[in-house]
Amino acid sequence: MKKIAFALLLIALVFSLTSCKVNWFDRQYDVPGWAIAFPVVVFSAVVWFSAGKHIASKQYVCPNCRQSFYPKWWQAAFSLHMNGDRVFRCPHCGRKGFCSPLK
Ligand SMILES: [Zn+2]
Repeated sequence: MKKIAFALLLIALVFSLTSCKVNWFDRQYDVPGWAIAFPVVVFSAVVWFSAGKHIASKQYVCPNCRQSFYPKWWQAAFSLHMNGDRVFRCPHCGRKGFCSPLK
């Protein structure tokens, strides 16, 4: 719940950003909001993508059917986690729950 509230606050801040005054030595510039929001969005997407790819490179074991699988990177990037365990839907039996990484 805290994560969702933080995300909503962040989105509200990004959209409320219309322009920004930047002081560069003796001069003052008006920087449009998109010039700040765009790199932030691109950077976040790159971090999210690479984190997803990194998590998806590990093999996880379903506690129900004991079969191992590799999650998709977009599932890995969105998945809830506790320690090393992550919530995935097992592609073999369809059970959704915490899966441990294969050592
Ligand atoms: Zn399973």
